[in-house]
Amino acid sequence: MSVLACHARVIAALAGCTALVLALTGTASAHPGHPDPARQVLAAHDGWGAQGTGTTGGAAADRAHVYTVATWEEFKAALADGGGAPRIIRVKGMIDADGPGCASFEVPGYDFAAYLDRYAPEHWGRTSTLDAEPDDSPEGLRRASAARQDAFIKADVPADTTIVGIGRGAGLKGASLQIKGVDNVIVRNLGFESPLDCFPQWDPTDTADGNWNSEYDSAVIHGSTHVWIDHDTFTDGGHPDSTLPSYFGRIYQQHDGELDIVKGADLVTASWNVFEDHDKTILIGNSDSAATAAVDRGHLRVTFHHNLFANLVERAPRVRFGQVDSYDNHFVAREGYGYSYGIGMESQLVAEHNAFTLADGVTAGSILKKWKDAPLTADDNYVNGAPADLIAVHNAEVPGEILRSGAGWTPVLRTRVDPARAVPGLVDHRAGAGHLR
Ligand code: CA
Ligand code: CA
Repeated sequence: MSVLACHARVIAALAGCTALVLALTGTASAHPGHPDPARQVLAAHDGWGAQGTGTTGGAAADRAHVYTVATWEEFKAALADGGGAPRIIRVKGMIDADGPGCASFEVPGYDFAAYLDRYAPEHWGRTSTLDAEPDDSPEGLRRASAARQDAFIKADVPADTTIVGIGRGAGLKGASLQIKGVDNVIVRNLGFESPLDCFPQWDPTDTADGNWNSEYDSAVIHGSTHVWIDHDTFTDGGHPDSTLPSYFGRIYQQHDGELDIVKGADLVTASWNVFEDHDKTILIGNSDSAATAAVDRGHLRVTFHHNLFANLVERAPRVRFGQVDSYDNHFVAREGYGYSYGIGMESQLVAEHNAFTLADGVTAGSILKKWKDAPLTADDNYVNGAPADLIAVHNAEVPGEILRSGAGWTPVLRTRVDPARAVPGLVDHRAGAGHLR
């Protein structure tokens, strides 16, 4: 193959030539002439995931370690099998990962009505948490029930793994992927419907009004390196926050994040994904505490490019510590929008060549949110089709929260940069699950 043909294919399929060779010599592709998505590796220079040894996932898997799964049990068995050999897990159809329903996780004696009665603010007050409640209390029974759900819906992803959806309509409903303490993982072409926490905990001390707090991100990258999240769709699907009830005057929040990157995780590329219909979407670094800072400082380097962020409330992403490069993404904001980029402790965000489509009533000054004083670079971004200086417009709208310009570093790990004005047309039709075949 000529270098020119290979280059053209890289641009067409966002695959490295190494991946193409692997595809041609490894598993046969269903579509001759196209690389098998299961064998593709992250292209050289394609974001922070390409740094150092790069991200190859399970591309080197032998025939015995290619699994095709159609149930949650088969999926978890494939993750547990193989003794550390590189593996490819092909997901067929939408897999139900959350069991037959919340009642199936309840331990004997658990009673939500009793929980509401015991911990109502007029009975319990608002000054202490429920953490010291004994095991036979309503909170203790909630804890035990939650532990059962936790064990069921979480799945640990081992090193050197590629998880890939087959064609259209493949995904995981209600799962929480744990990419924890490992290197070299690829997750592609999957639809994730957010897990629904069956047992949120009431915390009377979280804000003056208290809060219902839930666990479970669709995927969490926890202390892991070299992760490529590509062509996936993350959504609340059939149970958006608008359908959730309220108790004690607070929304009974059953969702956590879509993709959280925490605890010293590093070298992540997220490309061509759709993140939609969710509140707290992507958290990069989960605390300002000294202990967390010691783990996160110098890590949490993540690249986002050609993603669609649509109809979210906040955190796309919210960044602490890391050098995050966000370019060529399309953000669509409507009523109920909070912010896109959260500027947190010691973060060094670079946000360039992005396009924002804001509904009437959403102001460009709310695209950035200052949580801590940290500098960022925001160049060549477009809002509703016109160039906009995001920092200047933020500082004009929110004079009490002045942001500083100049992230202090220049991203070099980019393969292709499209002009911001072209981004909506490219991303809206090609990002998300179902496009890789
Ligand atoms: Ca189910
Ligand atoms: Ca989380």
